Amino acid sequence: MAKSYDVIVIGAGPGGMTAALYASRANLSVLMLDRGIYGGQMNNTAAVENYPGFNSILGPDLAEKMYQSSTQFDAEYAYGSVESVSVADDGVKTITTDSDVYETQALIIATGSEYRKLGVPGEDDYSGRGVSYCAVCDGAFFKNKPVAVIGGGDSAVEEGGYLSQMTSGVNIIHRRDQLRAQKILQDRAFSNDKIGFTWDTIVTEILGDGQKVTGVKTHNKKTDEDGTVDVDGVFIYVGNQPMTEPFLDLGITDDKGWIVTDEKMKTSVSGIFAVGDVRQKDLRQITTSVGDGGIAGQEAFNYLQTVQDKVQVK
Ligand code: NAP
Repeated sequence: MAKSYDVIVIGAGPGGMTAALYASRANLSVLMLDRGIYGGQMNNTAAVENYPGFNSILGPDLAEKMYQSSTQFDAEYAYGSVESVSVADDGVKTITTDSDVYETQALIIATGSEYRKLGVPGEDDYSGRGVSYCAVCDGAFFKNKPVAVIGGGDSAVEEGGYLSQMTSGVNIIHRRDQLRAQKILQDRAFSNDKIGFTWDTIVTEILGDGQKVTGVKTHNKKTDEDGTVDVDGVFIYVGNQPMTEPFLDLGITDDKGWIVTDEKMKTSVSGIFAVGDVRQKDLRQITTSVGDGGIAGQEAFNYLQTVQDKVQVK
């Protein structure tokens, strides 16, 4: 039999945890489902410097603090990899995971986004053998060795800075001659003598010796020259894509898969909300996810008042 909750939150990153905090503090029964450990991408982030209240805090430490707050009013947390969501005529949403079935009137989707692959030969072959998407997880394997970072956004530049602390040097390979990253991150990287830049250059192949990465093949778009950069590790940060596969049938996503909401985090399906990085939005940050989560938790309460009469504020 399906387990029933007033509110179910799929995804326990900053947006999902904040939504659970608000909904459970409003005396609703709340379940957070996640297919991994709570914290989402905070777990892959070295230092967070733009979350108010902390000058700098390790991503996993902030995740732990948020989890403690989000469960203080009895919100539950359970493992579950969501496979599908269906909506009945009476508005009940059925969530099927790999191991359970749940029912709720108010569903908050907070599944976030995942790294995009570069899509070049060698990337899959050497994944986990020199190719990585997480500096915090894998940086220590490259102590005093040279690494390349692919990309020019906040992630590439920030994680490049992190990698410069343990590697012998970081070569940021970017396809243009200007970074996309925030100015403060750029300034820091430009003044870090362990970080070098290869501009106007794309990586066309990850090279290896059959066991591990030995370098990357490059192509300079301005000079048309091909080259090779010798490195032991390649960290790929070329953007994100939404994790919305189980929700595509609901018709709530745009043509790239991001979920479209209004400013109250409502999707086009009554009683389904979305928060954080999974939304179609401009600024994907911990702060903006937390803001979304607060709104959605409150809006879920408001929605339930229209469909139930048992709701009482704690
Ligand atoms: P992003 O902002 O989308 O940047 C992706 C970078 O990869 C861009 O520089 C892009 O080049 C490059 N790129 C994309 N496809 C490529 C390809 N096929 N080959 C080579 N390069 C390619 O992604 P992100 O840096 O992961 O950031 C994701 C979101 O999280 C952003 O909203 C960001 O602001 C946020 N974030 C914030 C912080 C922070 O505030 N401290 C830290 C990390 C992430 P172009 O520039 O030429 O398009």
